Amino acid sequence: MRICRFNSLEFEAPRFGVIDGDQIRSLRQSKGLEAFPSFTSEEPIPIAMVQLIAPIAPTKIVCVGRNYKDHAAELGNPMPPEPLLFLKAPSAIIGDHEAIVLPPQSSQVEHEGELGVVIGRTARQLSDGEDALSYVLGYTCANDITARDLQRQDVQFTRAKSFDTFCPVGPFIETEVDPSDLQVTTRVNGDVRQTGRTSAMAFPVDHLIRYISRIMTLHPGDLISTGTPAGVSVLHDGDVVEVEIAGVGTLSNPVVQM
Ligand code: MG
Repeated sequence: MRICRFNSLEFEAPRFGVIDGDQIRSLRQSKGLEAFPSFTSEEPIPIAMVQLIAPIAPTKIVCVGRNYKDHAAELGNPMPPEPLLFLKAPSAIIGDHEAIVLPPQSSQVEHEGELGVVIGRTARQLSDGEDALSYVLGYTCANDITARDLQRQDVQFTRAKSFDTFCPVGPFIETEVDPSDLQVTTRVNGDVRQTGRTSAMAFPVDHLIRYISRIMTLHPGDLISTGTPAGVSVLHDGDVVEVEIAGVGTLSNPVVQM
């Protein structure tokens, strides 16, 4: 199942829906995006009649740093003994085809293509024996855009990771995929810059969910961005950056200078 989020002239607020051929079936939504969504009784809407937007509106974005050995090495960093977590501001989210805006404060903004995990039901204090993947709604493509010069300069990652537009996500949430060995590819202007398989993660998805749930409650719709493989490079005005995850989709964003 492919879950999307969209704006339509008929509704005041964005809606979640499921893509069914060239139509969208609207989902019932109470507080969050639940693991077992149910459909409204409304007629399906032709996809051509809506504006697709980023498929999530999370309470938080939890990112994992240095989860692939080759990427830690390219930045001259050791691998962390436990997952290295940081938060990215939800206000940085943009959808497929929306522009990444390079801010004047940085001269080294880089792409980081990553598997995004979307939580489907509240996860709190998960035990070792618990099936952590059963808390997942689905998977999406994420680009953890980073102002590398500011990241090096600051003690905290907050500024470097959270400029507006620094979190492209989408185009959909794919619910029928096994996250254990997916190919993650990032291209700039069609050139492959990053490739990796999720099987190379130091801390796999189930471990991350359990680990994070013991620190902070994960709510339906929250996003975990699971780290990037090697090959990060600087983005320039006029570039187009794509993150493709086999079986999940391709997220494409133009880059513009502010
Ligand atoms: Mg990252």
